Amino acid sequence: MAGMQGPGHEWRRRCRLHWRHMPDLQRRRFTSNTRLGPLLRLARRWLRPADTAVLDELCASWRADKDRSTALDLKQRGNDSFKARDYLQALSLYTKGLRYMPADSPECALLYANRSAALYQLHRYQSPQQRFVCAASAAALCWALQHRRPQGDGVGTLGQGARLAALGVAVLRHMLQLQCNAQAITVLHDTGEGAGSVRDTREVCVGTALYCWASLLNHSCQPNTTASFQGTRITLRATEPIPAGEQVLHCYGPHWSRQCVGDRRKSLQTQYYFWCECSACVREGGEGSPAPQAQFLCRPCGSALSLEEGGYRCVRCAQLVPPQSLQQQLQQLRLQMEGAGNMDSTHTDTALAQLQQCQADAQSLLPAQHPLHGEIDDSLARVYATHGEWGAAAQHLQRSVHAVELQYGTGSVELAQQLLKLAQVLFNSRSVCEAESVIDRAIPLLTTHYGADHDTVAELRAMNSCLRSLPGRR
Ligand SMILES: [Zn+2]
Ligand SMILES: [Zn+2]
Repeated sequence: MAGMQGPGHEWRRRCRLHWRHMPDLQRRRFTSNTRLGPLLRLARRWLRPADTAVLDELCASWRADKDRSTALDLKQRGNDSFKARDYLQALSLYTKGLRYMPADSPECALLYANRSAALYQLHRYQSPQQRFVCAASAAALCWALQHRRPQGDGVGTLGQGARLAALGVAVLRHMLQLQCNAQAITVLHDTGEGAGSVRDTREVCVGTALYCWASLLNHSCQPNTTASFQGTRITLRATEPIPAGEQVLHCYGPHWSRQCVGDRRKSLQTQYYFWCECSACVREGGEGSPAPQAQFLCRPCGSALSLEEGGYRCVRCAQLVPPQSLQQQLQQLRLQMEGAGNMDSTHTDTALAQLQQCQADAQSLLPAQHPLHGEIDDSLARVYATHGEWGAAAQHLQRSVHAVELQYGTGSVELAQQLLKLAQVLFNSRSVCEAESVIDRAIPLLTTHYGADHDTVAELRAMNSCLRSLPGRR
């Protein structure tokens, strides 16, 4: 009877039998263990020669006719099942997909990753007995890989050995895939460029690490989480309320605020082999999405230039400007701004004059929403702060906060960092009310991204209590 249902059925039946006969103590050990190595060793102890014979039969039925389009079809059906939360069905479809997928195809990795995700979900909902079946299968395949080397005694054995090895390798690769997806570790780093008591901080990448758990999350260019690091520990925090049953999404790198939809999709396709259909990509890449905003202004009349074949044409006076000249002017402007920003504190007057010229040039070249205006304001604020002119510094920072908010969004880590700077400048200028309101805005945002224990949050709290204790305040 069992034979008619195939060796897979027989294999699972044997595993369940072992589970039923396992002493309580061992069962408990198995149930409480979450690490792969000990699980495999525990499962291996229960395998008998008769079990591996069943496994041989199972492997003999393993076919390896490669066909990419069948594989892709199975993958798509697996994805549909995954979305419908039928993880068992998804797992089976992904596994079938792997059978058909040519081994050198880049989609192999994707199928392994998807299968890991399905297995992970199953692992969460599995009974201890089902977990044992999984672990015993993996243990058996690893054992087969170690002990059933092709001996050369007959074609059948050789073929079987090779098939076993392929299957074993597949399982091992799958296990490794669980821990795939490198994650860049970033820390908020004091660049030392700040003047006086205004610090300039920037996110700096200090290393790359692997996180089993984080790599199971799907990507969105507009994620609902943010990641921060304490040493090598990753903490993922929700940036918005996530309703029950909604996906927790993480950004693999390409973010809506830093790249256009075309560039994001291209880099995700190259690195992760998928075409991004996240909410931001669908919104920006769909039909009827708003036309991109003007990039440059017409110098003589100040109207927007629109891109057409042959160059940029003014929407009002119809003047045609070659794109190269505009790009060159923008690059020049950027260089001047950076040059002024890098001058040391003995040349603040020159830096100030140069930045003011940059600001005037930017106003006639770039539309109001262009991020460079905000960057120039940020540089100006830094120079004023060096002079101790807190009022002027605060004024420019207010404008750069506005620009950063437009570019990166109200919940962004970039805005959090800019608000921190503004709070420090307002605190130094003793603008009590303004400082307090900026601190009140910055604390929850920094807490969202870095947690309530972070240095920056502690610093803002200290500033707040200092302001409250000033004479004339409650
Ligand atoms: Zn996207
Ligand atoms: Zn014009």
